[in-house]
Amino acid sequence: MPSASAHEAVLATTPAASLVFTTVLSHGPLTRAEIARRTRLSAAAVTKAVRPLMELGYVVEDPNEGARSALGRPANPVRVDGGRAFFIGVKVTGDEIIAVLADLCCRVRVARHLGLTNREPEAVLPAITALVQELLTEADGFGAPVRGLGVAVSGDVDRADGVVRYSPFLEWRDLPLAEIIGTATGLPVTVDNDVRALTVAEQWFGAGVGLSNFALVTVGAGVGCGLVVHGRVVSGAYGVAGEIGHLSIDPLGPRCHCGNNGCVEAIAADPAILRGVREVTGKPVATVAEALDLARSGDPGAREVYARAGQAIGKAIGSVVNLFGPQRVIISGEGLAAYDLFAEGIRDAFAASAFGTAVQCDVMTRPLPFEEWARGAAATAIQSFIGSDTYEE
Ligand SMILES: [Zn+2]
Repeated sequence: MPSASAHEAVLATTPAASLVFTTVLSHGPLTRAEIARRTRLSAAAVTKAVRPLMELGYVVEDPNEGARSALGRPANPVRVDGGRAFFIGVKVTGDEIIAVLADLCCRVRVARHLGLTNREPEAVLPAITALVQELLTEADGFGAPVRGLGVAVSGDVDRADGVVRYSPFLEWRDLPLAEIIGTATGLPVTVDNDVRALTVAEQWFGAGVGLSNFALVTVGAGVGCGLVVHGRVVSGAYGVAGEIGHLSIDPLGPRCHCGNNGCVEAIAADPAILRGVREVTGKPVATVAEALDLARSGDPGAREVYARAGQAIGKAIGSVVNLFGPQRVIISGEGLAAYDLFAEGIRDAFAASAFGTAVQCDVMTRPLPFEEWARGAAATAIQSFIGSDTYEE
């Protein structure tokens, strides 16, 4: 294996190299001709971009065929060697830290969970560092270097500056997370909003592969939405694009923690459902699992709360589809456990609010285990390493 140089903080040093690598990563194995067709680069430009990636061992060609095209260019498909580099992804929730060690193809090799009893940065940051050190030790066993760390946090996160501007669940404000964790671990750190991180993973490795416009809607502790437009994950001018959780869909609805009334999140997120089920049924339901059991046992009040939540989500999805016309909307998140109770409400409200042919948008569900959020964080670290966050595609 070629030796790794210390300055490989970013693999691709040109937009073409970044584009070629990303294309092979998402769609490979591909022949050079297929890469040229997908990227609209010339055959010569593809060959030029692939060569250093192969020399460094990040891209490999299966040598058994030895075929050559009529023009004498190598015709064998090339693919990314996932084991050539490793990345660590960390997701911080209100009550635990989830960390994964993923390879360059974003396959999770090791996962760790650590419960949190204190959300203060003074407690959480050393815990993140300790988990990362554990995974660095694990990575030694795989014999490849760890090239980056991604940390995903809910709320308003400034990826370019590596700062958590405001995370309501954690009550963090203006925290220079990338700098602190980078100093503590010695790794290049990418900090991003958790839903956007998950969207990157779906775009490159999941249900968004091959789509230039799609939305990922997450339902659970909050309601979030990641947007991919023209192949780019959108942050917007203020970094909070896609905040569908705070679309106010019922001015007379319940008060939201953001200060407005009837936000999607105040109707369909887990705390809202729990509160709603308690109010409607008068039963002391303590957890989301209990609320779910009650609804599944046929309690009409509990079922009504879930139906309303489904309608709120469906309306929000209708707004997203009307606004930017994605090819697909992927619904995910831990709240999907209640999808059987949501589904009809989502379908009906979406059909009612989508304008014209927008109703044909493919709305699909994708159950993702909680570790996927940490995998999303690893995907952002891979993205930084490839340099695709700095180059327009
Ligand atoms: Zn709100």
